[in-house]
Amino acid sequence: MLLAGTILSAGLVGYLWRDTFESDSLKGARVLVTGASTGIGEQMAYHYARFGAQVVITARRGAVLKQVAEKCLKLGAEKALYIAADMAEPTDPDRVIKFAAKSLGGLDYLVLNHIGPSPFQMWNGDVDHARWLMQVNYLSYIEMTNSAMPFLKQSNGSIVVVSSIAGMIPTPFTAPYSATKFALNGFFGTLRQELSMKQESISITVCILGLIDTDSALSQVRGTVEAKAYPASEAALAIIKGGATRQREVYYPGFWQPVCLIRDWFPSMRDRVIQSTYNYKAVTQT
Ligand code: NDP
Repeated sequence: MLLAGTILSAGLVGYLWRDTFESDSLKGARVLVTGASTGIGEQMAYHYARFGAQVVITARRGAVLKQVAEKCLKLGAEKALYIAADMAEPTDPDRVIKFAAKSLGGLDYLVLNHIGPSPFQMWNGDVDHARWLMQVNYLSYIEMTNSAMPFLKQSNGSIVVVSSIAGMIPTPFTAPYSATKFALNGFFGTLRQELSMKQESISITVCILGLIDTDSALSQVRGTVEAKAYPASEAALAIIKGGATRQREVYYPGFWQPVCLIRDWFPSMRDRVIQSTYNYKAVTQT
């Protein structure tokens, strides 16, 4: 009965959130995408370009960003600029926002997507790595948000945060990564409440992604996790549509939404089911 109720509510939410996206809304939009040299960020840059947006992309590798920016221009971007930056460096988040706002004349979308590499393994006590990853995956997001706030207020803009199912449900072999994603969900959930209380019309879209077929993700889970990986280009489009239509949350693939609604009903059983989809021996042998 409860299960049927949950599935019905998920269906209703899906109906209410049906596709209201209009691609023209992104024509000329001023967009900053982080972590855009590869993976989902690169695919987002190409979609924004096809929609005629003005994009600034960032990541550490300038030479790769240059190629992505050139492709964006060919795909139809009104502007495509890049800036190399390392989000582990304390001054880089602010430097990137200033560059984007200056070169675009403001900012409509802040798309926070980058992650630092983190080993897929059992927690091994490496607190220095956890601290570094917290800076790259979490603190730099809130630093960029702080610096971007005046520009987003001016434009009634949007913050799009790329998170993970690992930030909603604890999963094995990802402790430092999972912690950064839980932190993002908590911080941006609170910030959304506070912006609403202050009647600021800045939207915050938190994107909960399952396994996506990027090279970095597949190289980590291959032989260890029994799960289908979904296409990065589709994930990127779902994120962009969610941001443009100012949704609170995006779930991609969509089945994660009802799973998250019932995740706390039977926690021990949930954990056993999750553990059964992992090949424990494959991880301990690497
Ligand atoms: P990738 O590993 O493919 O891309 C990560 C990006 O971040 C790259 O552009 C990388 O570029 C950049 N980056 C890495 N370290 C730094 C740093 N120190 N400073 C600045 N930029 C950095 O990731 P995905 O595309 O797979 O993931 C994108 C987002 O989607 C992430 O937020 C991830 O958590 C989320 N997600 C992905 C899933 C998946 O299965 N792929 C599942 C769930 C969520 P460079 O090396 O040039 O710096």
